[in-house]
Amino acid sequence: MNRTLAILKPDCVKRNLVGEVIARIQKGGFKILGLKMVRLTEEAAGEFYAVHRERPFYTDLVKFMTSGPCVPIVLEKGNAFEEFRWLIGATDPKEAVAGTIRRDFAESKQENIVHGSDSPENAEREISFFFSERELVELK
Ligand code: UDP
Ligand code: MG
Repeated sequence: MNRTLAILKPDCVKRNLVGEVIARIQKGGFKILGLKMVRLTEEAAGEFYAVHRERPFYTDLVKFMTSGPCVPIVLEKGNAFEEFRWLIGATDPKEAVAGTIRRDFAESKQENIVHGSDSPENAEREISFFFSERELVELK
């Protein structure tokens, strides 16, 4: 078992899709270890996506991620990050496989409903960006 970080992005919250997307995640066999709703500041969103600082979409991405509340969720499953990337699909919903969350709900490459960590190391770093260990439950 290992952990990954999901974020239901501001488009997901604004379009009232939080429940439907969480249902997909749970049906996919992921257990929820922690969940909260936050409104990212420009500084926090910029730091979270610092790896993309030089990319042309960075400024717009920060604007989008601060445009409303989002819902970070810590998930647990065997091979969690990889399984979750499969469940959400490609960054661009037009390229995402049928049945994936982004293919079924996302409206554009930017407003693509959900974030998923891209490695176990980044998953742990991203989890600690939003949660302290005492905010996470231990499942027995
Ligand atoms: N993004 C964008 N335009 C692009 C590539 C990415 O607006 O051409 C946004 C999109 O919201 C994406 C996020 O930046 O989810 C982070 O990009 P990344 O390449 O890490 O995609 P992801 O890992 O989310 O699939
Ligand atoms: Mg990424």
